[in-house]
Amino acid sequence: MNASPDTIAALATPVGTSALALVRASGPEVGALAAAILGASPEPRVARHADYRGIDGSLLDDVVATFFPGPGSYTGEDTLEISCHGNPLIARRILDDLFARGCRPAEPGEFTRRAFLNGRLDLSQAEAVMDLIHARSERALAAANLQLRGALGRRMDELIRLQVSILANIEAHLDFPEEDLPVEDRAALQADLGRLQDGVGRLAATNRYGGLLRDGVRTVILGEPNVGKSSLLNRLVGRDRALVSPEPGTTRDYLEEVVTLGPHALRLVDTAGLNPAAVSLERAGIEKTREQVAEADLILWVVEATRPLPALPAEFSDRLAPDRCLLVLNKSDLAPAVPARHPTLRAVAVSALTGAGLDQLRDEVVRLVDATRSEVGEELVAINARHADALRRASDELALARQRLDDQAPMELVASHLRGSLDCLGEISGRVDNERILDALFATFCIGK
Ligand code: GDP
Repeated sequence: MNASPDTIAALATPVGTSALALVRASGPEVGALAAAILGASPEPRVARHADYRGIDGSLLDDVVATFFPGPGSYTGEDTLEISCHGNPLIARRILDDLFARGCRPAEPGEFTRRAFLNGRLDLSQAEAVMDLIHARSERALAAANLQLRGALGRRMDELIRLQVSILANIEAHLDFPEEDLPVEDRAALQADLGRLQDGVGRLAATNRYGGLLRDGVRTVILGEPNVGKSSLLNRLVGRDRALVSPEPGTTRDYLEEVVTLGPHALRLVDTAGLNPAAVSLERAGIEKTREQVAEADLILWVVEATRPLPALPAEFSDRLAPDRCLLVLNKSDLAPAVPARHPTLRAVAVSALTGAGLDQLRDEVVRLVDATRSEVGEELVAINARHADALRRASDELALARQRLDDQAPMELVASHLRGSLDCLGEISGRVDNERILDALFATFCIGK
């Protein structure tokens, strides 16, 4: 694709006081700009210490500048990176100078958009750049790194290659419409399409883990009043966030807090206690609890280790599946030696008061969350909502193609659904020319990226 005609510039680091700030520019004028600013044609990819002089000759700062010629640069265009002192006034003056010399301010994500348009990254890799910047946990970082290295793109290429070869077979047959496809060929085609749909489904199944990585694991702390839910939340967060009180029913609304737990980020939600005999204000809180539980990725059901297991309302107990719920036996410092058991849930004895058992609780949470990870082939892939939507539409088209095949419909109809499915798969790596998708996607980036 053609290089964009404008030369863009932006601050790549946050606005604020720091040791250094990085200003970068990309586009066809960068070579000339670099020569003008640095006083000589810059050597490619060599950091150069220089006085930055503005267009009026005034000294703005001493900087380290590096010139990356296209097409081997991040954007695929000539790019200049200028490290200046990390005073926002200095960075501002350098940027203003670049604008005075003909650059225009970059839009959010425009550097990465150019990288994509110049074939340096596919769309899933461009999204991985964002994921990498915003990752809040080690696992999220690892998944973003894999995606940036093309793990998802490779999976998509395999699926697309398989689908193209099936389609090519059909299209070859369409050239001879008077001959219907023999029965055994229809059966083989049906099997191929089934394999393809399975592959799409396996990839789509990584959506849940992808959501946990990108948004954090939505974790609800559930239990009767006074069992120590707020104390546990404070323990996990590491400071007094929730109000702890010896009076039952003090948490009437809910609190939400993101904590790092081992390699994961948890979005912890403290809830109003489950009190069957609640007064009206508490009832409203309990309604909220119901909603929170319905949306939870993980539920920590807190009970007192000193007492027998309480019964829960059916709408809660239905949600307490062993793949998303842990039974937390709190106040184990007061407990008998033999703790309560649950027929299906794993139980962990803790004391929110002393901190005992907290490490084991962390381990159990990590084990449970990691178990939702779906491996696709050899590699871990964790797709996002955009990918999931495209895969769902691709799978719908494949299902229609298979249905048409079963119905003995003309092969042209089967082929048209396969082409539809191929378009959906193509959206993931961005092999579609769709400005609307690109605008929506890159608008979520930060300026300077
Ligand atoms: P919540 O209503 O479930 O949020 O319970 P709180 O966290 O407000 O705690 C209720 C009471 O139990 C407070 O007096 C806490 O100090 C006490 N408590 C909480 N956890 C423990 C624990 O592990 N051991 C003991 N002995 N007391 C606890």
